[in-house]
Amino acid sequence: MERILNLIDGRLQPPAGDAWLDVHAPATGTVHAHLPDSDAADVQAAVDAAMHAFPGWVALGREGRSRVILRLAELIERDLERFAEAESLDNGKPVHLAREVDIPRAVANFRFFATAILHFASEAHLMDDIAVNYTDRQPIGVVGCISPWNLPLYLFTWKIAPALAAGNTVVAKPSEVTPYTAYLMSRLCEEAGMPPGVLNIVHGTGPRVGAAITAHPDIHAISFTGGTRTGQEIARTAAPMFKKLSLELGGKNPVLIFDDCDFEAMLRTTVRSSFRNQGQICLCGSRILIQRGIYDRFRDAFVERVKALKVGDPKDPASDLGAVVSEPHMEKVLSYVDLAREEGGTVLCGGERVRLDGELADGWFISPTVIEGLGPACRTNQEEIFGPVVTLMPFDTEEEALAMANSTPYGLASVLWTQDVKRAHRLARQLQAGIVWVNCWMVRDLRTPFGGMKSSGVGREGGFEALRFFTEAKNVCVRL
Ligand code: NDP
Repeated sequence: MERILNLIDGRLQPPAGDAWLDVHAPATGTVHAHLPDSDAADVQAAVDAAMHAFPGWVALGREGRSRVILRLAELIERDLERFAEAESLDNGKPVHLAREVDIPRAVANFRFFATAILHFASEAHLMDDIAVNYTDRQPIGVVGCISPWNLPLYLFTWKIAPALAAGNTVVAKPSEVTPYTAYLMSRLCEEAGMPPGVLNIVHGTGPRVGAAITAHPDIHAISFTGGTRTGQEIARTAAPMFKKLSLELGGKNPVLIFDDCDFEAMLRTTVRSSFRNQGQICLCGSRILIQRGIYDRFRDAFVERVKALKVGDPKDPASDLGAVVSEPHMEKVLSYVDLAREEGGTVLCGGERVRLDGELADGWFISPTVIEGLGPACRTNQEEIFGPVVTLMPFDTEEEALAMANSTPYGLASVLWTQDVKRAHRLARQLQAGIVWVNCWMVRDLRTPFGGMKSSGVGREGGFEALRFFTEAKNVCVRL
C-alpha cells in the first residue's frame, strides 16, 4: 500500500507522530493509500523551514522564481497521464475529465502565475511638485494555503502558484480526502529546482493540520477554499490575529433561462453545468430557473438528456459521471433528495445510489437527479448540496427571476441565458454573484477576478488580484 509523505524542508517525510489515515478510492470504496495524520509539530517544522527559506526565495528574484515554477509545470505536464489517473483514483471523477481539465489547468495555473509575476507592476501617484508616492509590493513571508477535494490539484495550484510567484514561502494542506496528486507533485519539486523549504506540504485533517496552519503566529496570510462553515471557523481564528484572508466558499448557483435563448446551446451547456464532475464544482448551477413559456419544453428535453448520461467506471471514456468523493458525502447528497421529497418535490429522474458491477459494486455512485415542484425558500433550494442534484423552478418575469436568483445566502456564480443584450447587461449588474456567465458556463480567463459575494466568500483570486493578495502594499512618499 502506498504511503503518502509530507514535504517539509525539501524532504519527503512521515509525520512526526507516525500516525496514518486511510485514503479511499471512491469508485471501489477501498483503501488505496495511507496518508500522514500530521499535527501541530509537523506544521511547526514546515513553518520553520519556510521561514528559513524565505530570504533566499525572495533573493532569487522574479525571473529566478518564474523559472523554477515553469519547470514544475513542465514536469507535471510530462507526467500528465500519471496525474490524471491518480486524480481519478482519489476523487472518483472520470479519468478523461482529469486529463482534459484538472491536470492541464494545474499546469496552466503555474504557467500563468510564473509569467504574470514578470508583468506585475505597481502604481505611482505624483503630487505635482510636492512629492511622489510609489507602491512597493513585497511578499508577505510564510503563507498558508488550504484546499478542498473537488478539484484537488487544480485548486491547490491555483493558490500556491501565485503565493510562490509573489515571493512567499508556503505551508500548504490539500484535502485529506484527495491528497494523492499534491503528493505526486511534491515528488517533482526537487527535480524542478525548488529550494528546500519554499513549498511545504503537510497532509492530514482540517481540525489538526488546517487549524494549526490557521492559528500559527508566523503565518501571516491564509488562502482557503472550502465550505462556508469551515471558512467561518478559519475567520474566527485568523481575523483577531489580523491575518490577510482570502476565503472562497460554498455556492447555490442559479441558472436563469429566458424564452428567447438559443435553446439547443442552453440545453447542452445546462446538462454540463449541472453534472460536470458529479455536480461537485463550486460553479455548477444547482437551481435552474426557467421562464414559464418554455418550462415544459425545457423540463422534458433536459430530463431526456440527463437520463442518457452514463454513470460508470471512471476509467471508461464513455462515462459521463464517475463516483462522488466519499461515502459520507454520498449519504449527505442522498439525504437532500429525501428532504426534497419531504418538502413536496417530485424527483423526475435519478435520486438513487447506482450499484455497478464487479469491483465497482461498493463504489459511491449517484444517478444524476432532477427535482421539480419546490419553491425558492425551501431548504433544498437554499442549502448547498454539492452533488449531482438540480432543481427546476418556473418564473414569469425578469423581476421574479432576479428575486429568486438572489434569494439564497450565497453569491458565487450565476448563469444567464437570453439573446436580449440589454436584459443580459441589466441582470448581470443586479445578480448578487461574483461571476456571471452569459450564454456560456465555465469559460475561464485566468486574468479575471474570481470569487464570491455574501456567504460565498471574501476576496478575489485570479490574475493580479491574487498577486496583490499575496503581497503587502507599502506606500513610499518621497518629498521633491
Ligand atoms: P471543507 O471546508 O470541508 O474543507 C476544505 C479544506 O479545509 C480541507 O483541506 C479541509 O481538511 C480543511 N479544513 C477542515 N476543517 C478545517 C479547520 N477547522 N481549519 C482549517 N482547515 C480545515 O470543504 P470540502 O473539502 O468539503 O470542499 C467542498 C466545499 O468547498 C464546498 O462547500 C464547495 O462549494 C467549496 N468550494 C468552493 C470553491 C470556490 O472557489 N468558492 C471552489 C471549490 C469548492 P479535510 O480535508 O481534512 O477536511
